[in-house]
Amino acid sequence: MTVYSGPVFEMATRQFGVIADHLSIPFDERDRLLMPKRAITVSCPIHRDDGTIAVFEGYRVQHHLTIGPTKGGTRFAPSVDIGEVAALAIWMSWKCALVGLPYGGAKGGVRVDLASISKRELEGLSRRYMQEMIPFVGPHTDVMAPDMGTNEQVMAWFMDTYSMYQGQTVTEIVTGKPVSSGGTLGRREATGRGVAYLARRVLNDLGINLGNATAVVQGFGNVGSYAALELQRYGLKVIAVSDHTGALHNAAGLDIPALARHAAEHGSIAGYSNELQYDPANILTLPCDVLVPAAMERVIDADTAAHLKCRVLAEGANGPTTPEADRVLEKRQDEVFVIPDILCNSGGVVVSYFEWVQDLQQLFWEEEEVTRREYHILDRAFDQMVARAKLDKIPHRTAAMAIGVEKVRAAKLTRGLFP
Ligand code: GLU
Repeated sequence: MTVYSGPVFEMATRQFGVIADHLSIPFDERDRLLMPKRAITVSCPIHRDDGTIAVFEGYRVQHHLTIGPTKGGTRFAPSVDIGEVAALAIWMSWKCALVGLPYGGAKGGVRVDLASISKRELEGLSRRYMQEMIPFVGPHTDVMAPDMGTNEQVMAWFMDTYSMYQGQTVTEIVTGKPVSSGGTLGRREATGRGVAYLARRVLNDLGINLGNATAVVQGFGNVGSYAALELQRYGLKVIAVSDHTGALHNAAGLDIPALARHAAEHGSIAGYSNELQYDPANILTLPCDVLVPAAMERVIDADTAAHLKCRVLAEGANGPTTPEADRVLEKRQDEVFVIPDILCNSGGVVVSYFEWVQDLQQLFWEEEEVTRREYHILDRAFDQMVARAKLDKIPHRTAAMAIGVEKVRAAKLTRGLFP
């Protein structure tokens, strides 16, 4: 039992156990690798529009500081708790190490139902959360970014709040900012683009014609919407999409640019079409070539895994597949090609790293350069993962995580234990 105990932390712990066993990591070294270095809980009081005061609980977990600053998003959602945030921070560590970024993992969150607060209240909450975090973050300590429920505007408020306290503009304190406030070209699209890029690579390797291929996307936020747009641009038919309000299905292919415009205007896919409505409970098991879960963690359990009818599982979300589902998918390796989350959605943090580098240098790149470098890193990590999976005869997720854990472990062992 720890302060983090809960289903998501348990999942991250079990995954780590598989890797630690595979790498024969001595038992007395395991907690040093797995347990977060720091966890901060804050109370964020704000003035409500009606003149009352409301207090929201916020968290930040910094998993390890061995390689450099910690890095990771901030989530605003009603389900947020410290265990979920800790698990997401741990996954960020393996992700950053896998793709070779000089960061440890972090994650933050505020437990809030965004539907219940106004835009003005959201600004107050964002600013207060950052203000409470000022003693614990910094451009060389911990760098925040968007995650579920936060966006460029929230990042701009975070950056402004931190900067006002410093008495100077510190753009490098967060990534995923608007381009007008020190953000980078290509960050908004980066995660979804990376998901689609890797899915296309696998389809090409499998000899599947893109023009005849279909995709299903669960979640239509920043990740799902750009993944769907890019998959359609590559020639795939996106036959179904869902978000927290429902699902849409069209065997002839949905008009993704039109749907993205609708979602941008109305905040969700609700109201786009009555005829195309579909049961969201069935979306994951639709027959398709590429399935992109891009919503919550733990949506694919053992039963769903047994019924998946996709050729490629491109994990846009963090932690969408449970360890029990992994065991099922291990037996279905020849039917379902898994691109695990820490690789598949890593384009986001890769381009966040580019944003941080550009802000530190005050030297900004063309979008073409951002995207070219992103794909180069994704290709390299993909090659390493596939080679390792073949060599050790292990599933892709185990291979990807093993590479990440090994790198963090090597850094910890060479630095030694202080004092
Ligand atoms: N929240 C994103 C993730 O889970 C992005 C993190 C970042 O850009 O730092 O990977």
